[in-house]
Amino acid sequence: MRSDVLSKIILPEEKLPKFWYNVQADMPNLPAPALNPVTKQPLTPEDLLPIFPPGVLEQEASTERYIEIPAEVREIYKLWRPSPLYRARRLEKALDTPCRIYYKYEGVSPVGSHKLNSAIPQVFYNKIAGKKRLSTETGAGQWGTALSLATNMFGLECTVYMVKVSYEQKPYRRSVMEVYGAEVIASPSNRTEAGRRELQRNPNSTGSLGMAISEAVEDALGRDDTNYSLGSVLNHVCLHQTVIGQETRLQLEMVDEYPDIIIGCCGGGSNFAGLAFPFVPDKLAGKKIRLVAVEPSGCPTLTRGKFVYDYTDVACLTPISQMYTLGRNYAPPSIHAGGLRYHGDSPLVSQLYHDGIIEATAVDQRAVFEAAILFARNEGILPAPESSHAIRTAIDEALKCRESGESKCIVFGLSGHGHFDLSAYDEYLSGRMVDVEIPDEILEKSLSELP
Ligand SMILES: *Cc1c(COP(=O)(O)O)cnc(C)c1O
Repeated sequence: MRSDVLSKIILPEEKLPKFWYNVQADMPNLPAPALNPVTKQPLTPEDLLPIFPPGVLEQEASTERYIEIPAEVREIYKLWRPSPLYRARRLEKALDTPCRIYYKYEGVSPVGSHKLNSAIPQVFYNKIAGKKRLSTETGAGQWGTALSLATNMFGLECTVYMVKVSYEQKPYRRSVMEVYGAEVIASPSNRTEAGRRELQRNPNSTGSLGMAISEAVEDALGRDDTNYSLGSVLNHVCLHQTVIGQETRLQLEMVDEYPDIIIGCCGGGSNFAGLAFPFVPDKLAGKKIRLVAVEPSGCPTLTRGKFVYDYTDVACLTPISQMYTLGRNYAPPSIHAGGLRYHGDSPLVSQLYHDGIIEATAVDQRAVFEAAILFARNEGILPAPESSHAIRTAIDEALKCRESGESKCIVFGLSGHGHFDLSAYDEYLSGRMVDVEIPDEILEKSLSELP
């Protein structure tokens, strides 16, 4: 079938991948080992068993190329997978570009983003390990929502430590988690030692992601029936997301296409990894394909950070990893890409970037919202602000081709919808949104506080 007849490319259910693709089998250099935050020695699985199930820890360290997706997980994936790949015909026309632009849409998942792809298997492995309850943190709310639904599906309890400022400003996100049966606690809370200490220090604290991680980890460490769960960054999370890229490859084959450029937004790196990693072997084999991670210029981890060992949380409870980082105390300005505000990046994405296998670029938030609105007006879908970073870069690439006359196949990841992000759209539309320059001195300061 030719792409000029199809706009929505749907895979039949039996084409849903049976395996996750593990990029660790093919990387020229594996990431440096993660270190125990206390002893600074290489981390052993035993160090992490108090908070993660064996199934997940095996995947974290595996160099097996293909890892079978359990039947129970595939059954639930079928509620929304395979997800559609669209050709953005109206956007192409609006841009007057000779390029073909495709987007893989993960907003069709029940929670509206790609995060459920990892929440489902993570809960599954915890259930077979005999756990009854999971704790986690959430900033903007997307990960907490995904884990709330996944735990409910497998009959586990869920406690979400939600950064207090989001808890107060995004009450509807909290409502969704409660509908799915989770307990949602504003962080810092008096439920944990870390929270009580912070409240004593500053009773009006509005919290931070690092604080919420500390509370969720402490909660899991304190109870035998409870584990902790993380929604991005770690190897197993990137692994679970590779259903996205594998499906995309098959969908492009259906219309006789192969991508020249793959673009994904990058916070902790999992949706970008999910879309791009299945194409890494082609790239290593010499195929001409570009894999581009897009980050906000207000949190420019890959493009301006350092490739060093750093803590993955603020309270220094979690492993020390070699990755691109801005320093754990880097406080991004209040850019709206809530899910892209992490100080570090996936060690897998970082290593591949360091080795020149993937590229990175940073974009300003007003340009991102301009792209989001152009996309929404042409394609109809209201994109998440995070995903709109990828839209911006896809549009820029398509406009470059208008100049050069080249016709490229551009594929980007639309990681979620933006139905809960309307206050950010309001701010842009009313002209109140501003771009912020991050001076070198700020980054130098946060990068001087490395372990
Ligand atoms: C969380 C989130 C992201 C960023 O996280 P990654 O791990 O980098 O993928 C991007 N888009 C959406 C819609 C999200 O919810």
